[in-house]
Amino acid sequence: MTCVIAARNLQKAYNRSIALDDVSFELNSGEITALLGKNGAGKSTTLSLLTGRLEPDHGEIEVMGRKVSDNPVSARSQIGFLPEGAPLFDDLTVLAQLQTMAGLKGLSGLSSKAAIDDVIARFELSDRRHARVDTLSKGFRRRVALAGACLGDPPILILDEPTDGLDPFQKDRVLQQLRDAKQDQALLISTHSLEDVSEICDRVIILDDGRLIFDDRVDALAATAPGKTLEAAFKALIAHKDIAA
Ligand code: ADP
Repeated sequence: MTCVIAARNLQKAYNRSIALDDVSFELNSGEITALLGKNGAGKSTTLSLLTGRLEPDHGEIEVMGRKVSDNPVSARSQIGFLPEGAPLFDDLTVLAQLQTMAGLKGLSGLSSKAAIDDVIARFELSDRRHARVDTLSKGFRRRVALAGACLGDPPILILDEPTDGLDPFQKDRVLQQLRDAKQDQALLISTHSLEDVSEICDRVIILDDGRLIFDDRVDALAATAPGKTLEAAFKALIAHKDIAA
């Protein structure tokens, strides 16, 4: 396993209110990491820092061994990002959508076509390639957005609630595709679903009130509450931290 992202001592405040406080962690290739925490814990802020949408007040992020602050454009090109709600251009066809996303990623010509053909096959979108995005079911829309994030096989995928709002069948399909996407990529998945965590994740990072309170293997989280569900273990950890504070 190789470290592909190193986040060191990240701090971020909005109008003097601290959203992230001295948060450090690493993401490794070949590993699926879950980012968990209550609403307001700092997950979106973390994802925005990692994907270069925000800059930290203090701390540093290295992507593939290079400081993001030295070359933000190159760092961003290593990361496929699925934003919250998986926004798409409703009036485009699936193909036009993916072509637009490929263009935004700097892919063109044959490499763009090959990357698009690859994600269309992997996410089983070939029947829908000429369908307008606003005619698709939620499950298909999510697959198009995920396909867009995976275009060009970036070494890092950062996904904000990839299964949120999907029915159990659509959810299984998306989880299967994420599991298949893994190989030597590093995945970071922000989620509220402990079920998703137990199905596909190797590691868990938990934020609470802007602080990192857990960073370990999924089995280590389960071991904190033997005989209970992963969700119970997660809740107990946060409750315990609240009592200790
Ligand atoms: P999460 O994604 O875990 O719900 P966020 O990163 O969105 O957490 O938020 C962390 C903290 O920062 C919260 O207290 C939230 O209210 C605050 N916050 C987030 N974005 C902004 C913003 N643009 N302006 C002011 N406060 C913000």
